[in-house]
Amino acid sequence: MKRQPLDAALAELERRHLKRRRTTVEAFVEHGNRLVTMTGGRALVDFSSNDYLGLAHHPAVAGAMSECASRCGAGSGASHLVTGHGIEHARLEEELAAFTGRERALLFSTGYMANLGVITALAGRGELVLLDRLNHASLIDGALLSGARFRRYAHGDAEAAERALDESSEEAVVVATDGVFSMDGDVAPLPQLARAAKAHRAWLVVDDAHGLGVLGATGRGSLEQFGLSSDDAPVLIGTLGKAFGSFGAFVAGSSDLIEFLIQRARPYIYTTALPQPVAAATRRALEVVQREPWRRERVRALTARFREAARAADVPLADSNTPIQPVMLGSSQTALVAQQELLDAGFWVVAIRPPTVPRGSARLRVTLSAAHSEEQVDALVEKLGRLCVRQQAVCE
Ligand SMILES: *Cc1c(COP(=O)(O)O)cnc(C)c1O
Repeated sequence: MKRQPLDAALAELERRHLKRRRTTVEAFVEHGNRLVTMTGGRALVDFSSNDYLGLAHHPAVAGAMSECASRCGAGSGASHLVTGHGIEHARLEEELAAFTGRERALLFSTGYMANLGVITALAGRGELVLLDRLNHASLIDGALLSGARFRRYAHGDAEAAERALDESSEEAVVVATDGVFSMDGDVAPLPQLARAAKAHRAWLVVDDAHGLGVLGATGRGSLEQFGLSSDDAPVLIGTLGKAFGSFGAFVAGSSDLIEFLIQRARPYIYTTALPQPVAAATRRALEVVQREPWRRERVRALTARFREAARAADVPLADSNTPIQPVMLGSSQTALVAQQELLDAGFWVVAIRPPTVPRGSARLRVTLSAAHSEEQVDALVEKLGRLCVRQQAVCE
């Protein structure tokens, strides 16, 4: 194929309201509350981060990072299999295994890489990978890269997954799902998926990026919420840049699974180890997650408060009881106008558009955090209820 002019492609994205833009921010904390300012602008309340427990700016977590940096340096210097595997990585892996109740855990640099690594290690040509239609892009990319055939079943539909397993001529080796869906906030039908995967002797891979730390009585995520064991869901993936407030990811499972990934997961093998200060910060965050259950209770209470007020204000809610509370708006253009209206009112809520979400389902992805105040949540709902773009009213 010949080189295509990129300016035309970019102009087309702009025309369809699908061009993405980065905003450079400065984040700071005021009264334990995360605020951001865009360069030269005023402070905004961030209602789009994944910092559900308010740990990204926790002084002890940040302190652990700088203490470790002065002790062990900024960089790891090499991959884990060469000389980059440090004591902070090793301890964090042990602590994550204990936290998730599994034999071992393996750190990855990012959740994206963990998902690529797991699926490409467990599936290959001539085999089948089954995915929920709304799974995170990294699970889809892992399936593509694995060379296996992959099928996507209707979102949240365990019966459709089961039918696909029954009908397939290839051997299904992996059934992969988000635990909590990142753009919708709903929880996967894990007990049914676990049963189906077990009956077909496929690996159930649960990516609990948005569940760990938040869901379950002790923050052990969507599996804890359903009372599922490692036998039901043998491959658990967690990310550390969300509720844990730092960066990185891990896979937890049996000793053999982890040993196999160390041998076979290319995104684990061929990359520099995460800096040890990041692992040290995560260790501290993991401690806080376990010692301060009030953070989990608080984000839940704020979520309930948001939903109740939103219902009263006629804000269209999705079927989610997690801190991810999308406000469905439909068109990308409407979502962008709504985002701007909220910005003008001092709230940063990002419009999520295709291809991140299906066409016609652009939304504001509101996320709640233990770091928000009741007043901030109430003020946000109040503004959402009066969005001009929703009422098609003429503002000003
Ligand atoms: C954020 C996310 C990832 C990617 O994790 P990173 O550590 O940010 O690369 C993977 N899966 C899901 C469901 C996510 O929401």
